[in-house]
Amino acid sequence: MAKKIVAVLMLALSAAMLCGVVTVVGTRLFDRNDESVQMDADAEAQSAMGAGQTGALSSGPAGDARQDGEPDELVASDTETETNDSQTAPVQDPAADTAAPEENAEQTDDAQISDSSSGDSAVSQTDASTESGPVNREPNGKTIVIDPGHQAKANSDKEPLGPGSDEMKAKVSSGTSGAVSGLEEYELDLTVSLKLRDELENRGYTVKMTRTSNDVDISNVERAEMANEANADVFIRVHANGSEDSSVNGVMVVCQSSDNPWCSDLYEQSYKLSHCVLDGVVAATGAGNEGVWVTDTMVGINWSRVPVTILEMGYLTNPDEDRLLATEDYQDKIVQGAANGIDRFLGIS
Ligand SMILES: [Zn+2]
Repeated sequence: MAKKIVAVLMLALSAAMLCGVVTVVGTRLFDRNDESVQMDADAEAQSAMGAGQTGALSSGPAGDARQDGEPDELVASDTETETNDSQTAPVQDPAADTAAPEENAEQTDDAQISDSSSGDSAVSQTDASTESGPVNREPNGKTIVIDPGHQAKANSDKEPLGPGSDEMKAKVSSGTSGAVSGLEEYELDLTVSLKLRDELENRGYTVKMTRTSNDVDISNVERAEMANEANADVFIRVHANGSEDSSVNGVMVVCQSSDNPWCSDLYEQSYKLSHCVLDGVVAATGAGNEGVWVTDTMVGINWSRVPVTILEMGYLTNPDEDRLLATEDYQDKIVQGAANGIDRFLGIS
């Protein structure tokens, strides 16, 4: 038991250190700014990040440089992704990107190892109290709401960026699609979300889905409100990323800033949740680490009254990552990683 406590403390410490690193990267990358440029902004931000990546997944044959069908909210959010003129950003990003990922990866590995003393691989040697381990745990009283991004048909009607906001955004955008696989993001998001639901239920969580079919019409505000009504302990929104630069790859998570006009009170929890999920998925998949994107441009985050994160599982516009994302094996790794992150965030093992 004492060992476990020490392990948890060590974990907390290394997570705190990691947070420091990624926060710096995140805020540098995504200095929020004006709302002038739309799509390009994102492309810029993304390629700035991509530029520095040595990439766990080297980019394959230059696939068709797809329009970046930036994940719905990301599309518009790019708006604010606009870096102040890249003076600082690009310089910083690449450096951070090349340096940080490896470090992060190692740290996360550690975390994973200690975590798993009560986790996955160690079903047998866990807490005496329960038969724990991720498989078939007892109900733990926690509720997770999963929101598979997008839907079969976009809805360009508008809704407010945040409660009471005059700024409006499309209710649901169309998302991105696979450069090689042709997979539509909304399909992948749902496929992985359903796997995540099953895994979390196995681990003792109560899970609610904002959608279980592609043929729905549910706005981002409505999705957030479903999480609020469920009083979710975690609201996780599952997306895949897109970029005009087909070499860009890696896992990213998104949450609000500490200055968010609507939900800054949930910043710390959302940031911690985001970080835990990011670490979990990067460790499980070996994918590149694109850090935590702190932004107040996401409708589904701004309306949340519960800890929230968007998991951007990888880039469908990167041929190699697209191929991986289309496989069950890789999807299962993402699911294990995300579930490990949620366990860790909630202190459940
Ligand atoms: Zn998306």
